[in-house]
Amino acid sequence: MTSDSRVPSVGDVVAAVHRRYPPEAAASWDAVGLVCGDPRAEVRRILVAVDIVAATVEEAICDGADLLVTHHPLLLHPVSSVAATTPAGALIQRLVRCGCALLSAHTNADVAHDGVSDALAAALGVVGTVPLVPSATDPTTGLGRVGDLAMPLSLRAFADHVRDSLPATAGGVRIAGDLETPVHRVAVIGGSGSDALPAAAAARADVVVTSDLKHHVTLDHLAGGGPALVDVAHFASEWPWVPYVVDLLRADLAGFDVEIRASTLTTDPWTGRA
Ligand SMILES: [Zn+2]
Repeated sequence: MTSDSRVPSVGDVVAAVHRRYPPEAAASWDAVGLVCGDPRAEVRRILVAVDIVAATVEEAICDGADLLVTHHPLLLHPVSSVAATTPAGALIQRLVRCGCALLSAHTNADVAHDGVSDALAAALGVVGTVPLVPSATDPTTGLGRVGDLAMPLSLRAFADHVRDSLPATAGGVRIAGDLETPVHRVAVIGGSGSDALPAAAAARADVVVTSDLKHHVTLDHLAGGGPALVDVAHFASEWPWVPYVVDLLRADLAGFDVEIRASTLTTDPWTGRA
């Protein structure tokens, strides 16, 4: 940053994010992009978070952020009102009143290069990754990643490594499989990865790291001889993307006068374990 560098507009930052994560790559059911804010407004501070909830909105406002970038969308389903009579409407009103724009990069950030699963793989030391479910239009992108650990670990030791590499959550890390089995080839799917389990088996992964695995899906997967499973909190699986994309945007916006910061909040909804 130099003294004569210019303050970016909301539109400049949206363009930078969409160069990384083209909105056309998002799933048809998804709602990504600018949710509120004026593309012509100046952005001096940006906060990046996984979730758009009251706590992250307050964090952005207390931080003086002009733009909040989140992974999860606020308005996934069409609405006919953004009055402050619903939780989502109240967040929109708070953001607009405080002059903070909101941008979401969801499934477009899942499939692109340097996306959510790349960040998860990097956090876990999984190298030489390729897409687990390649996109039809560009096989170098796609859902999930599969690659290798530098050296094999027992499933138990690998799960401990996952726990130590991700934010602590109330639910912790669940393991399905023989705890002593060696794992070397690792599939990762940030967020809910059930649908990609067959691809992980086809890619000959020894273990899959993902979240939101249900009882019958897990039973059927193991009965079919699928790889061991490490199930973490949805939030924890996507959190590595936050500091990762902060670094990417700092590089992409290096010519601009703007501060970019990662949220420090845990927004996993589970608060305890009895
Ligand atoms: Zn998610």
